[in-house]
Amino acid sequence: MSSVLKIMVAKDAGFCFGVRDAIEKAREVAREHGKVYMLGDIVHNERVVKDLAKENVNVVDSLEQVKDAPVLFRAHGTIPEIWAEAGKKELEIVDATCPLVHEIHDEIKKLHLEGRKLIIIGDHGHDEVVAIQAQVPQAIIIASIKEAEALPRMKKAGVVSQSTQMIENVQEIIGILSMKIYDLRFVNTVCFPTRRNQSQIKEIAPNADVMIIVGSYTSANTKRLHEVSLSLNPRSYMVENASDIQESWFDKAESVGISAGASSPDDLIEEVVEHLNNLHVKSRV
Ligand code: SF4
Repeated sequence: MSSVLKIMVAKDAGFCFGVRDAIEKAREVAREHGKVYMLGDIVHNERVVKDLAKENVNVVDSLEQVKDAPVLFRAHGTIPEIWAEAGKKELEIVDATCPLVHEIHDEIKKLHLEGRKLIIIGDHGHDEVVAIQAQVPQAIIIASIKEAEALPRMKKAGVVSQSTQMIENVQEIIGILSMKIYDLRFVNTVCFPTRRNQSQIKEIAPNADVMIIVGSYTSANTKRLHEVSLSLNPRSYMVENASDIQESWFDKAESVGISAGASSPDDLIEEVVEHLNNLHVKSRV
């Protein structure tokens, strides 16, 4: 016997407002000026980047390649040196930095003015973390509990986090730091769309037989949501699109929960929902 799956989609799955606004801005500017340039991909999602290229949103490696059109600075922030270089070249800058990322930059600068040692909880080499670090003269990046444990004792330090960190990871690291730092000030800069996404997954994952997280394998944010889901439901899978879905995952399953990373567009999520709607799985009896 086969049956149709009950599908539960997390209410706010997919693009966060920061990414959505940046993409909209890129489209608008390209329409107005014939094209627009960006240093690197606007989001970690191949389909979005390819679709935007068709609308003359061009990805370049350096400002040298920017000619006769504005350059858009992406949602997760840009290092001050690039701002200065673009200014010197008199390029037209379109700032699509998410306001919540600007807030992180402001917070770390305030912590610096308080004379604190600076710590960023985030992924090494991630563009957002690199831009946060570049706002102040010296900041240490720690990505894991192990790295927090390896830090020396400090008298006075300030901590911010990358906007898309897992709340539990941040809490555990802060717990370790509070044992090592006498005067510790932590500004919780995990953004509210990230917190909302993680909490919706926590609600759905224990109540679904299978969980699907939609997003690019290169997206750190999607990988983290997958980890959250896996911690609550061992039948959690990450897919880039509907064609990655395997029927065997749904053996004897009656329900499936769906969420997606902040860089996953709505049409990709809809495609996955439609695919699952058409899947007739082997029922429990
Ligand atoms: S993940 Fe959060 S901080 Fe980053 S762009 Fe989206 S809303 Fe802004």
